Amino acid sequence: MSTDATTDGVDLHLHSRHSDGVLAPAEVVDLAAAGHVTLLALTDHDTIAGLDETLRRGAERGIRCITGVELSASWRGQTIHVLGFDFDPGAQPLQERLSQVQDLRRVRLREIARRLERKRIAAAELVARIESAYGVVTRTHLARELVACGAARSMAEVFKRLLGRGTPGHVPSNFPSLESAVQCLRAAKGLAVLAHPLRYTLSAGARRQMLQEFSAAGGTGMEVVCGNARAHIEGLAQLAQRFGLAGSVGSDFHDPQLPWNPPGRLAKLPASVHPVWRHFRLPT
Ligand code: AMP
Ligand code: MN
Ligand code: MN
Ligand code: MN
Repeated sequence: MSTDATTDGVDLHLHSRHSDGVLAPAEVVDLAAAGHVTLLALTDHDTIAGLDETLRRGAERGIRCITGVELSASWRGQTIHVLGFDFDPGAQPLQERLSQVQDLRRVRLREIARRLERKRIAAAELVARIESAYGVVTRTHLARELVACGAARSMAEVFKRLLGRGTPGHVPSNFPSLESAVQCLRAAKGLAVLAHPLRYTLSAGARRQMLQEFSAAGGTGMEVVCGNARAHIEGLAQLAQRFGLAGSVGSDFHDPQLPWNPPGRLAKLPASVHPVWRHFRLPT
């Protein structure tokens, strides 16, 4: 049981160093335990390599852990993130998508490097180093390297000036469709949940259209409590109700050095929203 009545004791969005987090899965579970989390999903970007270690440590610490992933997908040329929960990790279509997207990520990072090189930023060498060190390569890895070599002063600056939309290093999304992400998770007997719905550059109308299509494709839920963005919870709860989606809660934890979203420090899901974890086939 959570010792804090202001939280659900649930955190369904955390990263380990198998994607762009900095801790090992067991360390993520330990930190979640310290944050009074009792139900957890590790959701690395496009990989489930951290799953076994998470389940093992969760069993040792008495935390219920379910299968999780954060899939990259495309909608209208933009990258959208879809959380997958409680799926069969051996499902063939899921395995194939993960391997395909890991390849696409390498292609994308090289293309980003090529564009930055044109701006006289020596990114090709950084990307080669990242590729040899990580199974899943992400813009976060490149951003960290760019800060370390002095091309920018902070992660926020790298994304604002060099990697985000409208910057020299921006590459349009090359990931498979949003609809196919939902189908792939459903085929693996899992649930699809739209991650951080307010983090995309979309008008309010386009966002509603996306949620409509996501729900029609078989999506089960959307994140309503995202990290420490408390001001948006009510609006997101209303969107979830409007599109018949359950609600999820997650910190999007990556790094203990960043103090604003530690595991488990999350507001409660509003009572008006059906908790997505009620759909989980939890181990007994
Ligand atoms: P990718 O999945 O390779 O496109 O990388 C996206 C990741 O970059 C996200 O999951 C975040 O962890 C990170 N990210 C995106 N925007 C920012 C930002 N402004 N500051 C720091 N990290 C960011
Ligand atoms: Mn990330
Ligand atoms: Mn995300
Ligand atoms: Mn995430």
